[in-house]
Amino acid sequence: MTKAQNSFLSLDRQFSSLPKEVKFCRNCVVSNQRPRTRFTEEGICSACLWAYEKDHVVDWKKRGLELEALLEKHRSADGSFDCVVPGSGGKDSAFVAHQLKTRWGMHPLCVTWTPFEYTEIGYQNLQNFINSGFTNLLGQPDGLVHRKLARLAFELKGDAWEPFSYGQKSWAFQVALRFGLKLIFYGENGELEYGGQEKFKNMPKQGPEDWVVEQFKGATVDEIAETGLKRGVLKESEAGRALNWYKAPPTEEIVTRGVEGHWYSYYQKWTPQENFYYAVRHCGFECNDEGRSEGTYNKYVSLDDKADGFHWYLSYMKFGMCRASRDAQQDIRRHHLTREEGVRLVQRYDGEFPKKHFKWFLEYLDITEEFFWEVMDKYRELSNVWEKVDGQWVLKHVVE
Ligand SMILES: [Zn+2]
Repeated sequence: MTKAQNSFLSLDRQFSSLPKEVKFCRNCVVSNQRPRTRFTEEGICSACLWAYEKDHVVDWKKRGLELEALLEKHRSADGSFDCVVPGSGGKDSAFVAHQLKTRWGMHPLCVTWTPFEYTEIGYQNLQNFINSGFTNLLGQPDGLVHRKLARLAFELKGDAWEPFSYGQKSWAFQVALRFGLKLIFYGENGELEYGGQEKFKNMPKQGPEDWVVEQFKGATVDEIAETGLKRGVLKESEAGRALNWYKAPPTEEIVTRGVEGHWYSYYQKWTPQENFYYAVRHCGFECNDEGRSEGTYNKYVSLDDKADGFHWYLSYMKFGMCRASRDAQQDIRRHHLTREEGVRLVQRYDGEFPKKHFKWFLEYLDITEEFFWEVMDKYRELSNVWEKVDGQWVLKHVVE
């Protein structure tokens, strides 16, 4: 399966709603090409507006009391598990689990949907986290099917990482139902924090109904599987019910059993840099000792998986923003960087190719380098941000 077997098909349905004219936020470095992100007439993105509200409008004391009341309702008296915390061993989930356990007296059952391939530092951080006093269930889907789904998602969604995303969301619900637990704690509401739909602003929880739009680019795992079947990449036995772990349980079952997925970021102001220091202090979290990650200036975000760099690189192909941009957007909103510093870092690091794990990535997906660039080009063609000048791809707009 090394060549594009059919004419190019994309199931990433986010492009049609993107503005053709590219604009950057006047406060941070995100552009209006980030799907579902609203810009005000003054040119400020919704994530920056939310950052302001976090500092000046939200009544965190009141939300703390709401959290207290919620946990009071669920806390077990005999030490048995009373909530589920999904995470990879990264700083954010470690922060949430540790807070729930030590500050609030809860008994979290932690769950991890395994990365495609752990980096050494990612695996070590997971072990350090477990060793700091947590029970963790590691979900490992069928490795062959997982690879095939990643290969399909790479081409069809422009994101090989997507099968990880399915499990990252669904695995917690699957486990909660099997263990009879009702409370799930995700970290942050990403759409609100980083730009995206604001439907759940000032709401503590979300069911799986909006995942397809928010997380899966408008098409389900079943649609990928269907194309996989047609192309002979997947066998009948590898599709259908075999993919249940990749999906949320039926809404009716979730509602009947009273399972709720809350965001910790609703109840407590979300500051990843503080989560990082907290996780270092309490959960043995370590950052990348090789220095900054490829494509950015940062050392402690998204370290777990060898595939991570390509998730960001594909978003560069589609939206013109890569890993440094994403880090700078957040650091500006949280006052760790000025906009000028952020712009300089984006200009310096954004779009740096993740070469360290490139060979592994090609082998994992069973694709050639030629096919890899073919898919890159297809997504650049779909985007509003790239053009070809003298045979070379160049970004039409650069943040300044
Ligand atoms: Zn902004």
